[in-house]
Amino acid sequence: MFLKSLEIYGFKSFADKANLEFSDGITSLLGPNGCGKSNIVDAIKWVLGEQSTKTLRAGKMEDVIFNGTDTRKPLQVAEVSLTISNEAGALPLPDAEIEIKRRIFRSGESEYYINRNRVLLKNIRELFFDTGVGKSAYSILEQGKIDQILSSRPEDRRYIFEEAAGISRFKQQSIDAERKLEKTDENILQVETILKEVR
Ligand code: ATP
Repeated sequence: MFLKSLEIYGFKSFADKANLEFSDGITSLLGPNGCGKSNIVDAIKWVLGEQSTKTLRAGKMEDVIFNGTDTRKPLQVAEVSLTISNEAGALPLPDAEIEIKRRIFRSGESEYYINRNRVLLKNIRELFFDTGVGKSAYSILEQGKIDQILSSRPEDRRYIFEEAAGISRFKQQSIDAERKLEKTDENILQVETILKEVR
């Protein structure tokens, strides 16, 4: 699986549509301080479902929308699309190429898409389970991240091994199943109470 292209519009400093094509091998982003290199990494994290404003270096989520300059008005929407090659079948979809997209409006409303179909954030997360990509995974290593990993709590560090071992998906399924069981127990209790009342 590798990143094929990234399209950014209205996200942080990208007031105009920018399209980045990635080829095989290593891609380097070069530019003067403050030109938007880290904003590109933020855009990748954001489209993968990042919800932490701290991680995205923003005050609130709407702050990721281009907020204008002396010569340009702020925009009302930000959009990032990431196209990923799935020829090796690393992602659990039959398509050879997968496009994920996230959009946010000034109202704070967010939209997520997989191959142009509207989905939930949960679906984006599930798509990347056990691939090492996605929120809190190890595919994006920023400055200081290795130190952070080494000094983090053992439970937090275990997440990385679980992701690499391919068990994150099952862990999440087990959490979901436990929630359903709790809900079912609550429903049974309610039914029993009603039955007692009508008897
Ligand atoms: P450095 O090399 O210093 O780390 P960089 O190239 O990584 O810099 P970024 O941190 O990606 O730079 O970009 C910072 C720029 O993005 C700043 O000029 C900041 O004003 C601009 N910026 C951030 N958020 C927005 C926004 N919502 N609207 C407009 N510009 C923004």
